[in-house]
Amino acid sequence: MQMITRFDSVEELNAFLKHVGEVRKADSQPLRRGNLEKHVANLLGVCDWNTALGMVSKKEASEPAKCCACKQPLMPNGFCGDTECFHHEWPQAAEKGSDTVYRRMTLPAYFQSDSEVFKAHFDASPYFEYLIKDHHSIAFGIILEIFKQQGSGCCETDDIARSFSDTDELQGYRSFPGYSVIVDAFDHFDKPYTEETGFEVYVETDALARWLKANHEEIFDLLPDEFKDLSED
Ligand SMILES: [Zn+2]
Repeated sequence: MQMITRFDSVEELNAFLKHVGEVRKADSQPLRRGNLEKHVANLLGVCDWNTALGMVSKKEASEPAKCCACKQPLMPNGFCGDTECFHHEWPQAAEKGSDTVYRRMTLPAYFQSDSEVFKAHFDASPYFEYLIKDHHSIAFGIILEIFKQQGSGCCETDDIARSFSDTDELQGYRSFPGYSVIVDAFDHFDKPYTEETGFEVYVETDALARWLKANHEEIFDLLPDEFKDLSED
């Protein structure tokens, strides 16, 4: 196998080059930079140093950014994907519990296939961010319908689950807990041998109202008063 595939960053690659250079020196067989690069490229199974650099930097660019605390991949919104890690709730730069930054607000939602094989609690906030940003003209109509249906089992809520499976902008979430169950369910639904393709999605509309008030007040303001009750129960 090509050893080059073991390297995840250019920094690691350069550290290895330096290490080999030091080993050669200690063995009284020092190499000039150009020859050292050629030698290391050989060791790694590629034809030259530039190829090695190119392969590693390409890999580095395609790797998702990692959490500074637990090294798990970050979600596309920049928060840690590990629900146990405090950076799941606070931005990477923030101190735990800091008042100077806003905590991330999740939007609790629930997915269940009719067969009850697939069940997942998930955070629907990435969907609403995407909806409001990329489909601004229809976002309010969809949100209003979700309120009218009290957040349960309508085409509008079904689209929330569907979007995590088939919308490019939300694909970065696919491997995270909750979302991965939904994606697995849709993969399963697509198979010809399943008869079971029904599912339900439920969104907490009280939480949705609070989330809109905090994140998209312009949309919250348009809601009929009956849906604007923010009192905690
Ligand atoms: Zn983390």
